[in-house]
This record gives sequence, structure tokens and C-alpha cells, in this order.
Amino acid sequence: MINSVGVVRKEAENCNCLQVFFVSGSFKVDSVEAKKKEENFRETLRDMANSKYEYVKSFELEDEVMLPNLMVVRIDGRDFSRFSQVHEFEKPNDETALNLMNSCSAAVLEEFPDIIFAYGYSDEYSFVFKKTSRFYQRRASSKVVSCASAEVLQAYLAWRQQDCHANNQYDTCFWMLVKSGKSVSETQEILKDTQKQQKNELLFQKFGINYKTLPELFRQGSCLFKKKVEETVKHDENGNPVKRLRRKAVFVHSENIAGRSFWNEQPSLYNDLGHFTKDIGKIEPDFIRSFQFENKLLPLTWVVVRIDGCHFHSGCSRGV
Ligand code: ATP
Ligand code: MG
Ligand code: MG
Repeated sequence: MINSVGVVRKEAENCNCLQVFFVSGSFKVDSVEAKKKEENFRETLRDMANSKYEYVKSFELEDEVMLPNLMVVRIDGRDFSRFSQVHEFEKPNDETALNLMNSCSAAVLEEFPDIIFAYGYSDEYSFVFKKTSRFYQRRASSKVVSCASAEVLQAYLAWRQQDCHANNQYDTCFWMLVKSGKSVSETQEILKDTQKQQKNELLFQKFGINYKTLPELFRQGSCLFKKKVEETVKHDENGNPVKRLRRKAVFVHSENIAGRSFWNEQPSLYNDLGHFTKDIGKIEPDFIRSFQFENKLLPLTWVVVRIDGCHFHSGCSRGV
């Protein structure tokens, strides 16, 4: 009788308590009703201990991003196409909204010392945790991307920035055409199957826009990490500034955030996340698949399947 992970997972889905069990780390008591619920919940857990349901404890580990994987949490605005319409964002890039997103992310970086690097554009932000982070016992939902090495992280960042480049170039063409009087369907038809170079030409020929001169904030997205900066903390009695070095969240724009020249020049990045040993050309399709699909083992991860007999002891004693 082989007790595979799949079988255990199926049984657990039928267990009413499982959902509560997963959220136990963040259970909040803020009313009498909630207190009662919490007491019931604890009682259920006590009942489950030493019972046939004790195995569900092991599911806590299923959410853990194992060392030495690097954790990346990507947050993306929900239904932001509509949100940006309702709030009348400037298209394709509303600078005020982008700056607001950047300020919020800087506050997150300042708040959580374990976050070493962040990259964002449009309505998304990726937060990269330091290699050794124990944040939230390294437990996370399946939305978290775990990168098996600095090389995989490099591919992840290149992938997000390519998405930024491609989306922004398309959106710039799209909105210029729409603003010039074309309908949405006409615009989609014009842009269908066009390559990067053709879009650049369209912008230049029709609208006199040299894509490369558009703001870096729009074309490249924003990187955020802590840098030592000199700050004036006070003035002495003679009015001279007294300066101190402080680690402060700073924004940097770069054409290639996954390039060695960008990454390996920042001690705060390579110390906590590792060096990028070579520049990457084409991103490994397997890596991209692993970033997109949930519950998949990542490339560079050794796959070991252990098969363990279930109730083997009783089987032996019966002479099987
Ligand atoms: P989902 O909920 O699946 O993420 P979504 O509507 O949020 O759907 P995305 O693929 O995340 O879709 O794209 C984000 C949308 O929000 C795009 O349409 C983009 O144009 C718009 N958007 C986000 N930020 C800005 C901004 N600063 N200025 C203008 N538009 C923006
Ligand atoms: Mg979104
Ligand atoms: Mg998005």
C-alpha cells in the first residue's frame, strides 16, 4: 500500500478543518464571537492531534519555500484595466499613479528589512527576499515564485522587464492610434503580428515619436533597493551640515536589470542575493514555464521521489 502525496492531499481536501488550519498563523481575536470560534478551532486541533488526522500537520510544510531557494513575491493589481478607466488614468502611462505605486513599494521596502530588491511597472511589483530570510517561516501561498539560484532570479527579472518593454511599446502605439481617431478594433488590426522594429517605425513615421526618448519610468519600469546615502541629520553651531551614512530605499532605472553590469555593481544586491555570473541572452523557456505555473518543481532543482510503505510494520508482522 503506497501512500503517495496525491492521495494524502485528496483526503485532506475532504477535511473541514483544513482551511482553518492553514490560516492558523494569522488568526485574529477581535470579538467575543471570534474568541469562541478560536476556542472551537483550538479544540478541533486538540482532537486532531494523535488522531488519524494528525498527518495534516505536514501540510504546513507544503507551503514552505525551502532553503536555498530565493523567494519572490509578485503583487499585481486586480482588474486594473477597469480601475484605470474609472479613475481616468492618463493612457498609456499615468505618471501620478506610477509614482504612487513606487512610493508604496518604497514604504514596503523600508518596513521589511528582509526585502532586498523590488521591481515594478504598470500595476505589478515583485519583491525579492534575501537568501537567508526566515520571513513568515518561509511559508507562502503558491503565488510566490521561488528561484533555485541567482541565475534563475536573473531570468525572472529579465522576463518581467521584457514584459514591461513589450507591453509599454504596444500600449504606446495602441493609445496613439486610438487618440488619433482609430477605433479599438482598427487599432488591434494594425498592430496585429507587428514586430518591435515595426512598432518603433509606426511611432516615428505617424507621430514623430522616437520611442527611445520616452521616459525611462515608462519604458524600463522601476528598481528599488537600499543604498548607502549621505544625509544631513542636523547643522552644528556654526551652521555647517552634519552628515551621516544611512541605508535608504532608492529608485534606479536601467535598460537591463538582469545584466551583470547593473547587478554586480550594487553590493547590497549581490551580497544578499548572489552575483550574476554571466549575461543571459534568450531566457530559458523552461524557466518561464516554472514562473508561470504553480506547484511545479523549478529548473535546477533535483527531483527525488521517495516511496515509503504505509503500515509496513503491520504487514511484516503478518508475514507479508
Ligand atoms: P488582472 O486582474 O488579471 O491583473 P488587469 O486588468 O489588472 O487584470 P493587467 O494585465 O494587470 O490587467 O494590466 C494592468 C492594466 O492596468 C493595463 O490595462 C494598464 O494599462 C493599466 N494600468 C496600470 N497602471 C497604469 C498606469 N500607471 N497608467 C495607465 N494605465 C495603467
Ligand atoms: Mg492586474
Ligand atoms: Mg499587471
